[in-house]
Amino acid sequence: MNLDGKTRVCGLLGYPVEHTRSPLIHNYLAELTGINLAYLPFLTEPERLKAAVEGAYALDILGLNVTIPHKEKVIAHLKDTDPLAARIGAVNTLVRVEGGYKGYNTDMPGLYRAMLNDGVKLKDETIVILGAGGVARAVAVMLADHATKIYMLNRTVEKAKRIAEEVNAYVESPLVTPLPLSAYNELPDAKFLAIQTTNVGMYPHMKEAVIEDPAFYAHIHTGYDLIFNPAKTRFMELVEEAGGLAYNGLKMLLYQGIIAYELWNNVQISEEDAKKVYDRLRTSV
Ligand code: NAP
Repeated sequence: MNLDGKTRVCGLLGYPVEHTRSPLIHNYLAELTGINLAYLPFLTEPERLKAAVEGAYALDILGLNVTIPHKEKVIAHLKDTDPLAARIGAVNTLVRVEGGYKGYNTDMPGLYRAMLNDGVKLKDETIVILGAGGVARAVAVMLADHATKIYMLNRTVEKAKRIAEEVNAYVESPLVTPLPLSAYNELPDAKFLAIQTTNVGMYPHMKEAVIEDPAFYAHIHTGYDLIFNPAKTRFMELVEEAGGLAYNGLKMLLYQGIIAYELWNNVQISEEDAKKVYDRLRTSV
């Protein structure tokens, strides 16, 4: 990387930031596309978020990613917010515009592009979402435009109920049915695409899955775990043992980064370059 007077800077606002893989994605994309850009992590304390966004603008920073715990709160400090990000209520990408930054959510388009790349179809599918946290809510909002039926199972059923009410009001139909996690045996006797959005099974708790019963997995033709460390979660093992296809969340991470890079630089990343970054990401896990 040749840093000089024309180098544009991008980075990540988060707290903590030291485990991020985004510098790998963006600095390698800069190398592949020949764009003079450097990407850095910026440890940003919650009480300094507004100062960080204003300071970044003053320093002519081209774009930023935003991660935990700032994805919702950053919206108050933006010049503009993309409609999808506003609907999801979370922003992970800031694009420099006249007078400030415009907020986007590239996590959900990233998941969508990852699923397309893996050959997973969403249209006319019955989908089971495990979890009802921030990511599950965003997944349900994104799927509202594609799925035929969604069951959202969560340990704290009230959270799934709130998301269901919100999405159902938006689509004006009972698309999402909330259930407690323990009620998985009440699901219809059919085959599902299951999206695992809970923290259960993340490193170092690699032997755990949110549901262990093989009877549940017999209903899953495809299981998508948003966790990427470990590369094969217990959930994925259980899906495969029952004869289904299983994927992890690394491609979602890849494509949320690629879409952010495309927004910052007004370029289109080829699938060939995407694969190169993916291969490097895989070996870094
Ligand atoms: P969150 O808001 O904290 O939600 C966590 C969810 O996990 C809740 O539904 C929670 O249930 C459930 N959960 C936690 N511990 C549990 C347990 N012991 N038993 C049953 N359920 C449990 O987190 P989030 O922001 O939605 O993130 C969720 C996951 O998404 C993360 O772990 C991360 O791996 C993944 N993610 C992936 C990407 C990617 O690029 N691949 C990006 C972002 C996030 P309760 O509501 O009952 O507490």
